[in-house]
Amino acid sequence: MQRDEDVPETKIDRAIALRGLFLFLFATRAITFAKEDSMRLKFYGTRGSIPVCDASFQQFGGNTTCLQVTFPDTNRIAIIDAGTGVRNLGRDLRAIGHKQDQIAIAFTHFHWDHIQGFPFFAHAYDAGQKITLLTLGRDQTVSNLREIFEVQMQAEYFPVQLDHMGADFEFLQIADASKHFTGINNVETVVSAQRHNHPGGAFSFRIERNGKVLVVCTDVEHGEQIDLRLVELARGADLLVHDAQYTAEELQKRRGWGHSSFDQAMQVAEMAGVKRLALTHHDPEHDDEFLQRIENLCRERFPNAVLAREGMEISL
Ligand SMILES: [Zn+2]
Ligand SMILES: [Zn+2]
Repeated sequence: MQRDEDVPETKIDRAIALRGLFLFLFATRAITFAKEDSMRLKFYGTRGSIPVCDASFQQFGGNTTCLQVTFPDTNRIAIIDAGTGVRNLGRDLRAIGHKQDQIAIAFTHFHWDHIQGFPFFAHAYDAGQKITLLTLGRDQTVSNLREIFEVQMQAEYFPVQLDHMGADFEFLQIADASKHFTGINNVETVVSAQRHNHPGGAFSFRIERNGKVLVVCTDVEHGEQIDLRLVELARGADLLVHDAQYTAEELQKRRGWGHSSFDQAMQVAEMAGVKRLALTHHDPEHDDEFLQRIENLCRERFPNAVLAREGMEISL
């Protein structure tokens, strides 16, 4: 009798001990994440030029460029580019009930594939929601930022005009990006921008925060030589996100279109000594099977390379 009662008790003790161990491990893990997670990048759009919805493009994604950068310690997000991916970003923010008084969207440039989702960003229709649309860096050629969005949404092109969307829009052109961002959360956030070669110009961004470095460099054509200014911008980055629209052969036929090859992206990563590389701005002609083959090849040369997939998150 005595022994029969002992057995379940031992089981319960063991269960409690195991539960304790799980909780401890979970807590340790959570603390480790909290410590290490300086920024979290999520790809909402990885396709270049035009969205693609064919079934054979779903693994790497069909929406055009949109990146969400989360700063977990402050539970704030920032957005880079508003390609068609920004629609799902807005929906996800809604789904988790994310509230943020001011949402910043920084634009690398204003080609269609980087602004096309803006009229479908749910938060742009919220009265009282402050949305800051930004250019960062010197040598901008944009003279009137508001006009870009007004024109995009004028009556001939879209049923709702910018002024009637609802949100409180602010348009900022910031030459010295670092000064601006450090103020927001009182966590030193150094943001640098570098203009690079692309038809009409485009900008690469470097974000440094809590000792981690994220560099985003898309819609860039290096030309005969790798752009050394971008190598400097990417120097020692924990993660470099780089344009890789073409193969080396395709690039030969697409001179002047404003993009890079997979090889050039890896070359920048090697020259800059980056820890991880994410290749993006996938060509609308490159299906999943093709991109998977390219990813395997890239990893033979740069093991820490990955081809960006829609929905992919990378912590740094
Ligand atoms: Zn583009
Ligand atoms: Zn472009």
